[in-house]
Amino acid sequence: MISVFGSANMDLVAYTGRAPALGETVTGHAFRTIPGGKGANQAVAAARAGARTAFIGAVGDDALGPQIRAALADAGVDVSRLRTVPGPSGIAHIVVEDSGGNSIIVIPGANGTVTGPAEDDVAVIRRSAALLLQLELPMDAVVAAARAARASGRERPAVVLTPAPARELPAELLQAVDLIVPNEHEAAAITGETDPEKALAALLATVPEAVVTLGGEGALYGSRGSAPVHVPAFKVEATDTTAAGDTFAGALAVARTEGMPPERALRFASAAAALSVQREGASTSMPTRSEIDAFLT
Ligand code: ATP
Repeated sequence: MISVFGSANMDLVAYTGRAPALGETVTGHAFRTIPGGKGANQAVAAARAGARTAFIGAVGDDALGPQIRAALADAGVDVSRLRTVPGPSGIAHIVVEDSGGNSIIVIPGANGTVTGPAEDDVAVIRRSAALLLQLELPMDAVVAAARAARASGRERPAVVLTPAPARELPAELLQAVDLIVPNEHEAAAITGETDPEKALAALLATVPEAVVTLGGEGALYGSRGSAPVHVPAFKVEATDTTAAGDTFAGALAVARTEGMPPERALRFASAAAALSVQREGASTSMPTRSEIDAFLT
């Protein structure tokens, strides 16, 4: 089983010729509500890629909470550890211009109330083969979850961190991480190295394994003491790369918990991400296991 401790949002997306300037009103041409949040996206990616997946997090007691919960459940994610708390759910207010450019306001809502895994959540984390973390919950909560996984003894879950949105990482968090999966911008922000190979080497000074994702250029994998491996992206027609990174991270965790060696696991994750970029949307674009397997044969 994989557990994901993270954020769940509803993306409120307005499509318009151009975004309004301050004080201006424009008429847009479409509006969509799309379940998102990096935690929820990774949970959907892992479940669809074939793992039993539990999501630990919070939604609000507003109208969006049940919709976010239902989207996770529909994807096959165990939502029994998803709490409903008083107040609004997390939202991302997104304006997409016809040019493709966007601007986003994220309001954490219920996500911001999460302080750490409760006792029952810790029991779920300890039974898992992997714990997936991102940085859209309060940092103290993320550190508490990583610490809970670390304290699980010999059979402890692998802690996989997507350090997004990029922020300063406490040493205590890094010490508890087994695999870190930043994109190249996050890797640069964390390490100060703009060259991905150098950033990878810097990450490996604190974490045993790292993958720096490079968008359409693929991904760079490294583990301590061995030469980095570049896994190219599959050549596909990308129509929407939203949540490519979350699809990649979720699928990578599935592959690793199934015991695939690193390069095969990276190919599996790249295939899942390549399938997702060919479709619109975030969680709705994530491929099922049979789609990934068919793509790879
Ligand atoms: P996002 O923020 O959109 O979730 P990200 O910036 O975290 O994405 P990327 O590095 O853009 O992550 O992409 C993750 C992986 O997805 C890449 O390593 C690659 O395997 C795959 N991918 C991304 N873009 C493309 C593309 N245009 N064609 C094929 N594969 C892609």
